[in-house]
Amino acid sequence: MSTKSSAPATVGPTGRPVRDFPVPVALDGHGPARIITLCNQKGGVGKTTTSINLGAALAEYGRRVLAIDFDPQGALSAGLGVRTHDAPTVYDLLMGSIKDPKQIIQSTATPNLDVMPANIDLSAAEVHLVNEVAREQILAGVLRKVSADYDVILVDCQPSLGLLTVNALTAAHGVLIPLECEFFALRGVALLIETIDKVRDRLNPALQLDGILATMYDSRTLHSREVMERVVDTFQDDVLDTVIGRTVKFPDATVSARPITETAPDHPAAAAYRQLARELVARGAVA
Ligand code: ADP
Ligand code: MG
Repeated sequence: MSTKSSAPATVGPTGRPVRDFPVPVALDGHGPARIITLCNQKGGVGKTTTSINLGAALAEYGRRVLAIDFDPQGALSAGLGVRTHDAPTVYDLLMGSIKDPKQIIQSTATPNLDVMPANIDLSAAEVHLVNEVAREQILAGVLRKVSADYDVILVDCQPSLGLLTVNALTAAHGVLIPLECEFFALRGVALLIETIDKVRDRLNPALQLDGILATMYDSRTLHSREVMERVVDTFQDDVLDTVIGRTVKFPDATVSARPITETAPDHPAAAAYRQLARELVARGAVA
């Protein structure tokens, strides 16, 4: 029968051969941070879950990570167990009532992973910032003050393409688009890409598309496989090899306010987020 060497290379969900991304080498020092914005105006596609678990995986690899909660729902803050009600938040920095980001940043139970929290106050920010000078560049100014302390800053956007999201895109070096493997996933992506292109043209010429991350993939359904095929047809090499499978572990992890890499370190989803971390390092999106 067939020998090991004649066996075909295993093909991943993207239809490409499965590659092994090397474990990132240890860093000598830290910073300046590369800023990655996680953005999709559709809700429930895995932006917050990815911010938390990619952040935790990069932190495991020794990267110093700052996760910015840029959604007034505060799901990232809750998911990492940091205070939001009796604490100052990113809103105070945007409004200028607090100048030093270090007064806002909280550490988490995960070594190397810090959070800039948000709460419902942030929902008023768009209205307040509309008449500011350089209103699109306010978050960029805030993040410049802490960039030296981190290797990567992840900005978890709210599901909208409004002024806050434009701030997050203007502050970023790269954008990561989580895309749910569902029928309507591609709806709205054209508008999202158009917004990214406008920000690149007008505000942030160096902005890169770091990748499109397929989430909630279920290999058992034809539907998931068909959506995946369309996504790869449309976005080609921008689609990351790493695909996040659908699992009930994520809602569980949210309740425990810890990353899945810690609550279920051996779960395939934890492995998937570690692979995403390694792939982004291999692509040069993270130091
Ligand atoms: P977004 O930030 O884009 O709104 P979330 O990360 O909050 O999306 O995810 C939406 C919901 O789906 C949450 O309840 C989360 O726990 C769940 N979820 C996220 N990723 C997965 C996954 N791979 N499989 C199953 N459920 C998931
Ligand atoms: Mg979210």
